[in-house]
Amino acid sequence: MKNIQTITDQIFENYDSFKEKSITHRRFKHSNMLKILDKIKSNEKFNFEFVGKSVLGRELNLISTGKGKTKIFLWSQMHGNESTATMALFDIFNFFLDTSSLNDIKETILNNLTLYFLPMVNPDGTELFQRENIYNIDINRDALALQTPEGRILMESFKKIEPVFSFNLHDQSILYSAGNTHNPSTISFLAPAYDKEKSLNPTREKSMRIIGALYKVLSKYIPACIARYSDEFEPRAYGDIFQSMGSSTILIESGGSKNDTEKQFIRKLNFFAILTALFIIADKYYEDIKLSLYEEIPYNEEKLFNTVLRNLTFKENEQNFSADIGIIMEEINKTNGSGFYQKSEIGGIGDLSTFYGYEEYNLKGYEIVPGKTYSKKFKNINELSNTIVVNLLNQGYTNVVVEETEGRDFSPLPINILSTRNEYKKNKIKTENPADFVISKNGKINFTVINGFFINLSKEIDTNINGRVYH
Ligand SMILES: [Zn+2]
Repeated sequence: MKNIQTITDQIFENYDSFKEKSITHRRFKHSNMLKILDKIKSNEKFNFEFVGKSVLGRELNLISTGKGKTKIFLWSQMHGNESTATMALFDIFNFFLDTSSLNDIKETILNNLTLYFLPMVNPDGTELFQRENIYNIDINRDALALQTPEGRILMESFKKIEPVFSFNLHDQSILYSAGNTHNPSTISFLAPAYDKEKSLNPTREKSMRIIGALYKVLSKYIPACIARYSDEFEPRAYGDIFQSMGSSTILIESGGSKNDTEKQFIRKLNFFAILTALFIIADKYYEDIKLSLYEEIPYNEEKLFNTVLRNLTFKENEQNFSADIGIIMEEINKTNGSGFYQKSEIGGIGDLSTFYGYEEYNLKGYEIVPGKTYSKKFKNINELSNTIVVNLLNQGYTNVVVEETEGRDFSPLPINILSTRNEYKKNKIKTENPADFVISKNGKINFTVINGFFINLSKEIDTNINGRVYH
């Protein structure tokens, strides 16, 4: 492993000089991509081929480079809200456009391989930042029926290229853990099964060897944060079908990493993993990797919450008990998919000692009660200054009633907004309910939770917190 790591480490270390700087967050669009692809279109190193249009007429292009015998096919974002690998592909294009550094690595790759990229398979879904295409069909369940134009383009491209290796690039839930641990599954891999018995053949074994090597090399940067995706056979998915058609397929799933909401670190890991994979295919290094290395990778498990509050004291029916609370946050798209707000849900109450949170708080000795609704009504949201909100939070209120909710889909303030129709709505601490409560000790309120956001009242309140609106 040693000398391959020395080579590929340079890819990681030099990442910043290749990063596509015009993209800084996950919710870029097809139009942003076309601008980036313009510089490739005019460069002789790359071949640019229009291969079809999405339902709404957005163009899909197959971009190729290299002059090697071994053909490689890489596609990204067939799920419109899974954009991490697309960002990494832009960085990889820059890597090959550059002529000033790591030329040995580039030459090894481009002399032995021909690379075909189909970035952003689902541009209409991307526009709305949704998984499915505009028919609301999951393209990755359309590999047999081929009812979506995007899915047909993917299949036709594959058949035309006849790749020896295929890279299927996705994002997975940030709440997956790497095995039964507190570590997020930041990257997970899979050598997809080609039958329901999950049999092995030389095609699948090649994928497993490459993944085994990637597991080792990536572990240096994200130790214990790498997992294996479920290998259940899904005949309607492209990875499984391509594997069965004889192309060694490697699934890369981008998960979560603490303090990386926009997945810019995971983007770098994708850049590194994909280029490392290409390099070890090009120099045939993977042939010496043992299959047992793949088997060592733990599976994705569902052991994570966004936040876990531990050892809270509840008082119900004159009795006391202690329990933990796990909170799940869901990103909800703003209308045009260009931004999002958060919606919370209580995912579990009780003994969560075998679960973990990105954020954890030990609240032993603190009492929890549901947040209250303030009795005075406000005319509209503009009447609520920051000072007023902070005052209300300190008194145990988590909701205010506002006469004109103005059709807002979320509250920009760290407090929930109720319309007059909902003024008697009661918060209840119950699984699947929103997380809105007040945490105190000896009668003094120290913390409050608004829509799942944990707020320490002795500190300045984060401006990114959003409450909910109940119309
Ligand atoms: Zn996906």
